[in-house]
Amino acid sequence: MLGLMQQGPLLISSLIEFASRHHPDGEIVSRRVEGDLHRSDWATVAKRSAQVAHALDGLKLSFSDRVATLAWNGYRHLELYFGVSGSGRVLHTINPRLHPDQIAWIANHAEDQVLCFDMSFLPLVQAVHARCETIKTFVALCDADKLPADSGIPGLISYEAWLAGKSQSYDWPSFDENSASSMCYTSGTTGNPKAALYSHRSTVLHAYAAALPDVMGLSARDSVLPVVPMFHVNAWGIPYSAALTGCKLVFPGPALDGKSVYELLESEKVTYAAGVPTVWQMLLGHMKPLGLRFSTLKRTVIGGSACPPAMIAAFNDDYGVDVLHAWGMTEMSPLGTLCTLKNKHGSLDHAAKMKIRLKQGRAIYGVDMKIVGDDGQELPWDGKQFGDLLVKGPWVVREYFKGEGGDPLKVDANGVGWFPTGDVATIDPDGFLQITDRSKDVIKSGGEWISSIEIENIAMAHPAVQMAACVGMPHPKWDERPIVAVVKRPGTEVSRDELLAFYAGKTAKWQIPDDVVFVDAIPLGATGKMLKTKLREQLKGYQLPGS
Ligand code: AMP
Repeated sequence: MLGLMQQGPLLISSLIEFASRHHPDGEIVSRRVEGDLHRSDWATVAKRSAQVAHALDGLKLSFSDRVATLAWNGYRHLELYFGVSGSGRVLHTINPRLHPDQIAWIANHAEDQVLCFDMSFLPLVQAVHARCETIKTFVALCDADKLPADSGIPGLISYEAWLAGKSQSYDWPSFDENSASSMCYTSGTTGNPKAALYSHRSTVLHAYAAALPDVMGLSARDSVLPVVPMFHVNAWGIPYSAALTGCKLVFPGPALDGKSVYELLESEKVTYAAGVPTVWQMLLGHMKPLGLRFSTLKRTVIGGSACPPAMIAAFNDDYGVDVLHAWGMTEMSPLGTLCTLKNKHGSLDHAAKMKIRLKQGRAIYGVDMKIVGDDGQELPWDGKQFGDLLVKGPWVVREYFKGEGGDPLKVDANGVGWFPTGDVATIDPDGFLQITDRSKDVIKSGGEWISSIEIENIAMAHPAVQMAACVGMPHPKWDERPIVAVVKRPGTEVSRDELLAFYAGKTAKWQIPDDVVFVDAIPLGATGKMLKTKLREQLKGYQLPGS
């Protein structure tokens, strides 16, 4: 017997329709490339998304055709999120920090038809447009009078001229909720980049889950600043969850330095922010010497790479801001786990609570996870044994766009396919996940594993350390031994021996790095993550002391 409830596809267009009907005056504030603050609201976003849809119809774009963006977080990008996907096309958010060759490669691989870009990326588009074989229309996200006369890009039009005069309502089509809605290429440190192709269903379900109280906990009372870029896994799904809850959105545009972010947090009374640790490092670095305080910020989600304990402590103890440590990946839309305490943790003392908060958190409903040993057998959730982390769920990839890289899933004894995350983790009896490493970064010393994240976290707790990266170096006796590459905080000093002494009592003796190498910078990838492959190349010729 089937249930007798109404059925309708879960479509992204329903999110913007809901936001405009129930939260029409919910604010959307954007710092623009021009530097000024632009103010919009959900009703206006809905109207202009409709104009985007008409403009795409005007280009005779078919269902599922790809529309690419090279853009910062801002209201025009938000309009494209809803206008492109809502009308049945696929939004391809390109990471502008990628190498131009890679950008051209993925635009061709995705077979993008249109490219909409912020004016700050004009030189980049000028450099790559001739190599983008399928793009027929280039749209600059600016007013008509800001369009350069001689850009060299054929047929370049301004976004505002493109939308002008189009109807502000659109009969959003209904179609299979499993249709593709947006795509994002993974950073791809090896081989070609691979694209996760999200669907309307996966996006809407993820938006629901992300908004839950123990996840992002967004509400119509929040003013939300996603520093995490809309070109990286849809800003962790915040634009969609924001439409679903009707919260105010505050977009930082290109200004991600500590001063600019702080000013925006204060002027727009932001209650909730989200970003990677490097951004928060810049913010705290700006605030501390000036003695600045937050007047409204209550919570911040930190993820994308491990959040150093010192950062969680600074937000929590010095500023009274709750840190929600989150873990996920492009292939997971991206949310997998988020760290919020349970009722039974209420009576724990501060130190015990902090120990839990350092973990990446509990699985969100919709994400199944398990850790397995080398033999593929599931390992117990005892918080000690670590293994390869596998996941499955309705917003986890089944395969990559165009089958790139082959079938990624690992099928278990029950015939169920799991996505191997490439992360190594422990899970404790309460279900809290702790990432110890990327599997390729794990250090094996004398048959025992050392977590590079743990070694980095200890170094980063030292006041003179701005950034630390731990890698394994070949060792004749132990196979590998850890060393830590360190960037010193400007104006501070610390010696190799002082830093090594700092490890005493904080980790097992045999896990203490053999050496400290001071460097000017740690190489970072396009999404702000440490590029350990590059660091290892830089350290070529380095010899461990005594080896
Ligand atoms: P990406 O797909 O570029 O977002 O990268 C996903 C990868 O980032 C994950 O597989 C993890 O290795 C890493 N990552 C994301 N969040 C965290 C976190 N909170 N702690 C440690 N690693 C993380």
